[in-house]
Amino acid sequence: MKRDIDYVLYSQEQIRECVWRLARKIEEDYAGKDLVCVCILKGGFVFMSDLVREINLPLTLDFMAASSYGSGTTSAGVVRILKDLDKDISGRHVLIVEDIVDTGLTLSYLSNYLKSRGATDIAICTLLNKPERRKADNLKVKYIGFEVPNAFVVGYGLDYNEKYRNLPYIGVLKPEVYEKDR
Ligand code: 5GP
Repeated sequence: MKRDIDYVLYSQEQIRECVWRLARKIEEDYAGKDLVCVCILKGGFVFMSDLVREINLPLTLDFMAASSYGSGTTSAGVVRILKDLDKDISGRHVLIVEDIVDTGLTLSYLSNYLKSRGATDIAICTLLNKPERRKADNLKVKYIGFEVPNAFVVGYGLDYNEKYRNLPYIGVLKPEVYEKDR
């Protein structure tokens, strides 16, 4: 697995500090509010599990899974919901927890969808952000861990063909790994 990684972009220690910093802001902003953290599966699962354990507030969790169609390393913005929320979110403060915002098309679709379900407000927390590639111009991302360059990254929940999610750090995948599948 490690031999497919070109270089480590963020180490476990850097991610830990970043999660801690984000949790402090979220605690401040949501104190006294009825918060539900919605993890976007599968990529968001590692980040979500670390993040919520750092947030000292009485929150609840929910999970959604969506697939966005596109080629192996890009999304086309056509989103299908594979798993919907388990609980009603009307009147609640929703924090969407995502691994990476790239074009923003997936989250733009999902946040509009969650708005239509009656949430009081919706905010996005992403570990990684690729602003250069944004297509959804109106998407507001309130909490950002790291701004990343335009490279395909894996680890800490992020996959390529379902692999590498269990790497404890975030690394840049060697292009030859995905180029051979093209
Ligand atoms: P968007 O709709 O913002 O373009 O796509 C977001 C989704 O694309 C992410 O949740 C993730 O699944 C995938 N994605 C975008 N960039 C990367 C990347 O660099 N690495 C991995 N593993 N997935 C990515």
